Amino acid sequence: MPKIATILVPIDIAQLEAADAAVALARDVAETHGARLVLLNVVERVPGFVASQLPKSFHEKALAEGKARLGEMAVRHGLGDGAEIVVRDGHPSTEILEYAQQIGADLIAIASHDPDLSDYFLGSVAARVVRHAHCSVLVVRPSDD
Ligand code: ADP
Repeated sequence: MPKIATILVPIDIAQLEAADAAVALARDVAETHGARLVLLNVVERVPGFVASQLPKSFHEKALAEGKARLGEMAVRHGLGDGAEIVVRDGHPSTEILEYAQQIGADLIAIASHDPDLSDYFLGSVAARVVRHAHCSVLVVRPSDD
């Protein structure tokens, strides 16, 4: 069995329910392997012409909101200090892939919608991560219950 030392769980704070399923599975794998768990939210940069219409604090608030939601999620899953919380800005799939490389992630656990709900088999972020990641990727579907 491959050794899993570091697990990255990218979380879209607009899809917290889906993320809960991914965090729960990742936590189980982390416990089995004694792995480090890293929760990551990426705050997208809005285009310049939009940003110029927004208050300067908008981006800082989004970063703080990401950190707060991830902190709540860690508490909800009983992770305590067992999970690291990271918020970055940029393009979600690019940041997820770069950060996974940076921390030497052995596994990325990513949630994705049920294929019945869309013409696409995977959402665009999940699809890019599966295609380009150098490590294993666990795609977590919503459960029926
Ligand atoms: P879907 O269409 O299935 O919702 P997406 O590709 O948009 O698919 O998102 C799938 C997963 O990608 C999310 O559950 C999350 O794990 C990750 N993801 C998407 N956006 C972000 C983001 N801004 N920050 C961190 N992870 C993200």
